[in-house]
Amino acid sequence: MLIRPAPARLALLVALTLGATFAHAQEKVLNLYSARHYQTDEALYANFTKATGIRINRLDGKEDELVERIRNEGANSPADVLLTVDAARLEVADSLGLFQQVQSRVLEERIPATLRTRTWFAFSTRARVIVYNKTAVQREAVQNYADLSAPALKGQVCVRSGSHPYNLSLGAAMIAHDGEPKTEAWARGLVANFARAPKGGDTDQIKAVAAGECGVTISNTYYLARLMRSAKPEDQKVMNAVGVVWPNQSTWGTHINVSGAGVLKHAPNREAAVKFLEYLASDEAQAYFANGNNEWPVVPSVKVPNKELASLGTFKPDQLPIGDLAKTTVQAQKVFDRAGWK
Ligand code: FE
Repeated sequence: MLIRPAPARLALLVALTLGATFAHAQEKVLNLYSARHYQTDEALYANFTKATGIRINRLDGKEDELVERIRNEGANSPADVLLTVDAARLEVADSLGLFQQVQSRVLEERIPATLRTRTWFAFSTRARVIVYNKTAVQREAVQNYADLSAPALKGQVCVRSGSHPYNLSLGAAMIAHDGEPKTEAWARGLVANFARAPKGGDTDQIKAVAAGECGVTISNTYYLARLMRSAKPEDQKVMNAVGVVWPNQSTWGTHINVSGAGVLKHAPNREAAVKFLEYLASDEAQAYFANGNNEWPVVPSVKVPNKELASLGTFKPDQLPIGDLAKTTVQAQKVFDRAGWK
């Protein structure tokens, strides 16, 4: 995420915006707690207000802070919708009982069954791909996640922390498909191949791969599209130096993760909240929402005009229901801990 307000500023912001809400109790409002901070989302919210007359009070925050906040606010929470990234995080919120069940024909018809749960819904997808240095590593050697633990890649792997939700969700998918022993053996092999101790985000790893500090990494697709779209010559150089592989095309497919949202259990404006989710699934909102962070829409008929993403080609995504990742996420953390993937 781009902008992360300090906790003090966050508190002030919520006091101001929500204070204003209570002053105009007659006005139709929606209180949105959001961990997405993209310029394009502004237009999205303005269009919702234009179409429905419902004003959006937005509280921006970090993913984990927002969940903690909603939890602490309890039954008095003014929050109607939590919008955040990563299936593992959405499932944490769900397991804490923060969401309520939503039945909506619109959402059921538009969002594929594998990309929704009974309580929360995905609104865009990103894939976790393999990125390699074209001069240091053979493309054929890195076709599967499993390949990254092969002894041939000793000293070649850079990757962010094993505790990060993106890697935990990947680990959860691997456990679901291949079982825990195989996933643990993979994680041990991966750690044995590290070029350096995990540090930084996905973009830092891509840059390290391009610079030859390591030969291969794992990254979310939107970081690659962001570098491709960058006007900076150094970013162009980075992208020229690396190749991108859709992993596991001959097995269970490339792991995908999501941005998603759910209606909160104590939502004071429940009707507006459901309307907002349905709006996010509309053709117009889907294109905006996905493209704003170089992601794919969840509604299959919606296409985004994103030539950088399109340049990566088509792929077979993992069909594991996104809500099922939760069942093995805690297990994934334990497996990575045992393997020493800090
Ligand atoms: Fe990210």
